[in-house]
This record gives sequence, structure tokens and C-alpha cells, in this order.
Amino acid sequence: MTTPATTYDSQEIWFLTGSQGLYGDETLAQVAQQSQTISERLDEAPEIPLRIVWKPVLTDAESIRRMCQEASSSDACVGVIVWMHTFSPAKMWIAGLSALDRPLLHLHTQYNLSLPWSSIDMDFMNLNQAAHGDREFAHIEARLGVHRKVVAGHATDPRVLGRVGAWARAAAGHHAARTLRLARFGDNMRDVAVTEGDKVEAQLRFGYSVNTYAVNDLVAVVDQIEEKAAVELAAEYVDLYDVVPALRPGGIRYAYLLYAARLELGLRAFLTEGGFTAFTTNFEDLGGLRQLPGLAVQRLMADGYGFGGEGDWKTSALLRTMKVMGLGQSGGTSFMEDYTYHLGPGTPRILGAHMLEVCPSIAADRPSCEIHPLSIGNREDPVRLVFDAAPGPAVVVGLSDLGDRFRLTANAVDVIKPSQPLRQLPVARAVWKPRPSLAESAESWLLAGAPHHTVLSSAVDLETLSDFAAMTGVELLTIDEHTTSQQFSKEIRWNAAYHRLAQAL
Ligand code: MN
Repeated sequence: MTTPATTYDSQEIWFLTGSQGLYGDETLAQVAQQSQTISERLDEAPEIPLRIVWKPVLTDAESIRRMCQEASSSDACVGVIVWMHTFSPAKMWIAGLSALDRPLLHLHTQYNLSLPWSSIDMDFMNLNQAAHGDREFAHIEARLGVHRKVVAGHATDPRVLGRVGAWARAAAGHHAARTLRLARFGDNMRDVAVTEGDKVEAQLRFGYSVNTYAVNDLVAVVDQIEEKAAVELAAEYVDLYDVVPALRPGGIRYAYLLYAARLELGLRAFLTEGGFTAFTTNFEDLGGLRQLPGLAVQRLMADGYGFGGEGDWKTSALLRTMKVMGLGQSGGTSFMEDYTYHLGPGTPRILGAHMLEVCPSIAADRPSCEIHPLSIGNREDPVRLVFDAAPGPAVVVGLSDLGDRFRLTANAVDVIKPSQPLRQLPVARAVWKPRPSLAESAESWLLAGAPHHTVLSSAVDLETLSDFAAMTGVELLTIDEHTTSQQFSKEIRWNAAYHRLAQAL
């Protein structure tokens, strides 16, 4: 079975070290050895999931420019870390930084952790110069207006490793966005505003390539799936999930499970064939499909595909991007919709779900596989996985198109167990307490005009998202424990001014 990339194995972060020729060969050999040690430390750190690749020390403008161009044209390189071990006159970096087309992290570190107080001499001082070498480099970054993350501290400090790790994940997400191909089956749900958007701008800004296919193109593939393959996949369902008796082999509705399996196999074949890593469906436009895809969508999401309901390509693309940023983390990432509220007694909370399509990567327990009627869509009863989301901290993120630009809105939340078992609810769901409170969160979310379709993730943190937003130059509004809706409304106004000014005329 083909799935989108589920590891960072093919990706690299390049580690560049700046210095200059004046120091002489002996010192530069020491610079090289020390920067290699730091690069290896980062490479081995569990906090940083991508491979860190050390490159020879850069001492002149020509080699700097060539290295930056090489990084920008490499298919493997998804980001660049730069450190001025010693003093590297920064005019040498102008051509290189101007040519660099990769996310940049400026690591402000030093080989030695401690000053050797009793033995420090001028040799030591001359070798450990990042304190001013990095300031010289930072000046030219600021003057050129280069987007970058700055992380300061020793390479053994967990805070440093965590911050570099978040950025590395964001860089992988940035790469996934730039190479993302999304298949839409049908258009958006009629009359809905927030799921619309400028697909050309999305490709310019994020790299998302979004194209529509007739749903019957998919039907043709689904209908070609052989019975034997569907039977085998249905048997896998029976192994993996608590499949209700009616859907099991010999059960009165087994044919529905077989059709759900055909749907999955057909969707997979279509997406694989086209090199797609994200897709959308629309219950208003199902063509010859006999069921609204539920189980199939859920399982494809669990394999790392992006998905959005009702033609919502923005949420689908964001979901795929976040799937990549969260690779290897505990927790999961799912399509989500703010559905209904518990306003009291007790702490107000949100019940999120969708018609069917919630990803089992966020499930607390083994899902059950069930069949129930669906009042909309005008098709046969669809098969779906039903479960509660696992408790724990998470983020809820929405991507909206404001007409002149995109906006990401993120809310830090705490997923909790439902207060009572939800026996009558035939869909997968998550219950969460938004931070700082439902009232402040919802007031802020509405002021931002953020969408009802979101991505809920317990695998991606706010720092990673914030790094991703910075890499793409997209606004990110964050609602967390420190937010008040009053302050938030001011932030929206300031951001509007900034983002309009920041766009080239
Ligand atoms: Mn919806």
C-alpha cells in the first residue's frame, strides 16, 4: 500500500559555519572541528528529528554564495542553520543570503560552555568569538530583512534543542507545503463562505497545488477495484477495529463494509497515481458513489493524507502540512469541526466532530467500526469509525482567506474525556476545554473570523506552528492561557496594518 512520506529520512538541514581567512589554517582547523562537534550534537539530539548535515567552514563571499545556492537547489535540503563561530565580516554574506531560498535559523551558540576564568588568555578569546561574530551576522540579516528564527544558548541546553527541533519540524512542513498536490472531488459546498479561497494565492504563498476532479473520475477507479482486494481489506478492518456484527463477513450488512473497502482502495489508487497528498470531498456532489466516504477518509488521514469536508481544500492542505510537522510525535492530528457546546454546569467545553471524518490517530482506544444512517448526502448508510479522542493538551488551528491574505488562527486547548459515555452519538468526536476559557476563546476566534473547520493536533505545538507561519509570511493569531479578547481585538487591528504594509505594492 502506498502512503505519503511518513518519515523525514529523505530530508536534511544543512549546518553552515561562518568565519574568515585571517585566522590562519591552524585556527580554522579548530573552528571546523568544533563546529562539527556542535553539528553532531544537534544531529543526535532526540528533540531534532531531521538529519543535520555539517558543511565545511565558510570564509569568503564566493564560497558563501555558492553554498547558499547549493542549499536552495538541493531536493534534500529543507532548511539551513547558520552559526558564526568566529568573526565573519557580514558584507561577505550579502550575496549568499540574497540567494538563499530555504528557511533559515540563526543559532547563536559557543563551543565552550564555561569561561576558563583562571586560564583565559587571548588565544581563547580569539577562538570563542560568536558573541560578537553573530552580532555582526545578525546585523546584515536584519538589514536585508531576511526571515529567520534566532535561537541562543549552548547546544547541550534542552531549551535550545527544543527550539531548533520545532523549527526543523516547521521546515519539513514548509517543504511539504511547497510540494503538496491536492485533489478536490467536486467543488465547495454551495453558499458556504469560509471554505472558499484564492487557490492561486495559496500556491504563491504556501506552494499548495489545488485542482478539481469530477467525482465520477473517482467512481471509475472505485468500480474497478476487484472483489478479492476488497474482501482482504475488510478482513483487515475486522482485525483492527471492533466491527459491529452486521458488518462482519456473513453479517446482513457485510456488503456495505466491502463497498467501504472498495472506496478506500479506489481513493488510494487515485491519490497515489496522481502524486496527491491531500484531498477533499463534498456530500452534495457524490456522483456515482454509493456511500459518503467515511471509513476510507479516516484511514487515509491516519496514513498522513490531508482531508477537508465540503470541498474545504484550505483545511485539507493545512492538515497535510501539520501531519508532516508532527511526524514521529506521540498524539495525532485530525480534521475537526467545532460542533456543539457544553456551557455549564462546570467548565464550559466544546464537542468537536464531523459528519464522519475524524482521524483515528487521535483516538483514545481501539475504534469501533459501525454503520448508521446519514440524513444528508442522499446515499446509502456510510461505514465509519467511532471513538473518543485521547485526553491531553492540543492545538486547534484554522486557515482562513481574508481576501487580501491568509490568516492562521490557533487555540491552545485541553482535550478531556466526555463527562458521560456518548452512547447515542454515531461519530468519532473530541471534547476539549479551550484556553483560556470557552468565552474568551470563542470571542477571540469569532473576532478573527477564523473557520469552523479546523485541524486538531496533539502532535504539533504552537512554537512549530509559529515558525511555519513565519517561514511562509502568513499571519498567525494565537489564543492561549494569556489571551483576553479585548487585547486580541487590538492585535487583529495591528496585524491588519502590518500585513497590508508588508505586502509589496
Ligand atoms: Mn463541515
